[in-house]
Amino acid sequence: MKFGYRDICLSHDTGPRHPEGPDRLRAIRRALSREYGVEFTNPESADEDTICAVHDREYVEQVREFCADGGGQWDADTVAVPETWDAALASAGIAVWAANEALDGASGHDTPFSIGRPPGHHAIIDDAMGFCFFNNVAVAAEAALDRIDRVAILDWDVHHGNGTQDIFYERGDVFYASLHEQGLYPGTGPVEETGSDAGEKTTLNLPLPPGSDDAVYLHAFDDCITPAFERFDPDLLLVSAGFDAHERDPISRMRVSTEAFGAMTTRCQSISERFDAPLAFVLEGGYGLESLSDGVCMINEVFEGREPEEPDTEVNENGRAVVDEAREQLFESE
Ligand SMILES: [Zn+2]
Repeated sequence: MKFGYRDICLSHDTGPRHPEGPDRLRAIRRALSREYGVEFTNPESADEDTICAVHDREYVEQVREFCADGGGQWDADTVAVPETWDAALASAGIAVWAANEALDGASGHDTPFSIGRPPGHHAIIDDAMGFCFFNNVAVAAEAALDRIDRVAILDWDVHHGNGTQDIFYERGDVFYASLHEQGLYPGTGPVEETGSDAGEKTTLNLPLPPGSDDAVYLHAFDDCITPAFERFDPDLLLVSAGFDAHERDPISRMRVSTEAFGAMTTRCQSISERFDAPLAFVLEGGYGLESLSDGVCMINEVFEGREPEEPDTEVNENGRAVVDEAREQLFESE
């Protein structure tokens, strides 16, 4: 894969006890360099106009001033330092780079992966929250729409990407699908929310029960996500790739193995090939340093030809019920 990364993203210093710290990127870089000799591309930062295509300009100015004034606690979870402004523009810029690389034909061994922070998927149109300032994947999707007609975003971070959903909820040109742990922060993303107005049936929420494992996740792909994308027929597939659903992640109760992140990647590859939609990955959360870097390395290996093992367990009843319900909301209640 081609990895986009910028050192400035390390300088967004959230303090020693914050789970979303620069060591996350250091762990990923170390593992990729050591295991595969990966070299990193340093894309340009996004400019303010590109950010303002999805965020209110007033809010963007507020972030700039907040950082210039020294930063501090934006809210209980979301922290800024003066460098956060540049890190946030860089993080969004790397995501835009990834989308453009994919649209320029980078695929297979060259599939782009944006390794930036702060993460993005909780950031709403006019506010930061949940460690996120600018919604990187949304900025990338919006920029890509200058070149193509439809973007699908698949968000497998363990938290619901409320920001991404909100930004595109009434839009028919972006399909947002999320697999998340029911009841976890920020508490949004019920199965009944499927979009409105021009965006009707272009939002898919899979709030899976705590403890869901590989079999449930892959069943959700096969039974719901793939048919939903088939109907939408995207021109680009962006993956909001968080690794906090990993069985060794400290902040969720999900039980997704490293191998299953590979199996999900294989499914993204086949969606991409079937619908002729180039594929790019954008980092979101993931708070166990080892499980995070293992997950990113697994995705890289899949693009180097590894065939991940399929789970051999049964799909748990409660998980299956959520997938059935989501499928019904999207396809059968018309
Ligand atoms: Zn998360």
